[in-house]
Amino acid sequence: MRSHLQREAGVPHYTVAGLGAGPANLSFAALAEDHFPGQIALFEARSGPAWHPGLLFPGTQLQTSWIKDLVSLADPRHRVSFLNYLVRTGRVYSFLNAQYTAIPRLEYARYLAWAAEELAVVHYGQDITEVGYTDDRFTLHTAERTIATADHLVLGMGTRAHVPECFGTSEPGSVVLAENLEAHLNTRDARPYEQVIVVGGGQTGAECALYLLGRGFRDIRWIGRRHWFAPLDDSPSANDFFRPSYLRFFQGLPGQTRQAHTSRQVLTSDGVSMETLQELYRRNYEALLSDGRTPVMMLPGRTVVDASQRHGTTTLWCERDGGGRERHTARLVVLATGRTPRELPVSGELAELMDTDGSGEPVVEPDYSLRWKHDPVNRIFVQNRARLSHGLADPNLSLLAVRSAVIVNSLLQRELYEIRDEHVSTIWG
Ligand SMILES: Cc1cc2nc3c(=O)[nH]c(=O)nc-3n(C[C@H](O)[C@H](O)[C@H](O)COP(=O)(O)OP(=O)(O)OC[C@H]3O[C@@H](n4cnc5c(N)ncnc54)[C@H](O)[C@@H]3O)c2cc1C
Repeated sequence: MRSHLQREAGVPHYTVAGLGAGPANLSFAALAEDHFPGQIALFEARSGPAWHPGLLFPGTQLQTSWIKDLVSLADPRHRVSFLNYLVRTGRVYSFLNAQYTAIPRLEYARYLAWAAEELAVVHYGQDITEVGYTDDRFTLHTAERTIATADHLVLGMGTRAHVPECFGTSEPGSVVLAENLEAHLNTRDARPYEQVIVVGGGQTGAECALYLLGRGFRDIRWIGRRHWFAPLDDSPSANDFFRPSYLRFFQGLPGQTRQAHTSRQVLTSDGVSMETLQELYRRNYEALLSDGRTPVMMLPGRTVVDASQRHGTTTLWCERDGGGRERHTARLVVLATGRTPRELPVSGELAELMDTDGSGEPVVEPDYSLRWKHDPVNRIFVQNRARLSHGLADPNLSLLAVRSAVIVNSLLQRELYEIRDEHVSTIWG
């Protein structure tokens, strides 16, 4: 890895340091590389390239078009485009003939690993535990040492699994996070009629139910809070929310209206893919034909409010939409209960210098910078933590390249990347 200036013995200095090397920061590094040569570093906690390992179940697919890769919406000629990846790795004809409408998640993970290698700015195994600020620069620390200083920061640390409060004291082993399910099952024998409960009615919950079927389980209960297991709305009109023209409209709305719009639009982002639902229902139907019973019991309209364990069995209490409580027990409970942004690992002093909104969250400006005392001398940008201010596209891959382009433009203080979204036939109300 290259460092820009060595201002402190042994501690490299960069113009821009990124925390995390997920798709968000890889996209930023790609679009910024020519303009900050050798001056960007991404610090990644994982020991090597990985994208949501543990959630790449067989058959799972990206819910976003592959044209929305790391760069193409801002610069389709960039060397880390998905198309260039296919050509350079020799798989373009095999890929085309497989005729995917949505690409396998595993392929996206491979693409990201390839792009990271091409960009050569990622420092793996560097979990940044604290970022401080002294003498007009940021200092990045791991648990062991100070590893870098930087003029500007791009925080792209993604999300972590959300665990409902009632599971706080659950025994390890009987309650597992969706991302640990595969590894957990690899440590034990599947007993077909052992009861398993999957909590969470979104895409990950559906995928866990399907994965358990594939591993031989035949007594699966799938619990979701919504009134039904709602499909993702991937229609042309729903996709209008995922374009720069809508983002501009959205940012002009008052805060409360933005919140109301976001919750009304949630199924354009958080529903279950139609293909996944169809597969689940077909697997149930085919089991009915062959075994005389359906292996997956669908339990929507239920909120788990209490969980307890005894002798290796977990009991869940659910409040039902229609009123009343209901009890379910299982040997294994899988949590697919959503994700939440990771905490910003900033020092107390740095946090004090940031403006916060009514809920205590840092204020994110339209260019994804945080409003803080030493902006614009030292800038802090955030990726994937502005859902309320920037809409549902922010936690998604859809406008990844556009967001990175906005950040690069803002750092350079000129419109290097022109974001064009014309010929809009929808007039927002
Ligand atoms: C299974 C799954 C599938 C998804 N599929 C889609 C999809 O098809 N379409 C779509 O639009 N969205 C999808 N999403 C949502 C979202 O687009 C992805 O979560 C995406 O990976 C977010 O990118 P990111 O770079 O912001 O975060 P992440 O991909 O989570 O990357 C953040 C990285 O930062 C690292 N990190 C965190 N803290 C630190 C630290 N302190 N120091 C150093 N490194 C740190 C993490 O190890 C991680 O590698 C999916 C989400 C999941 C969970």
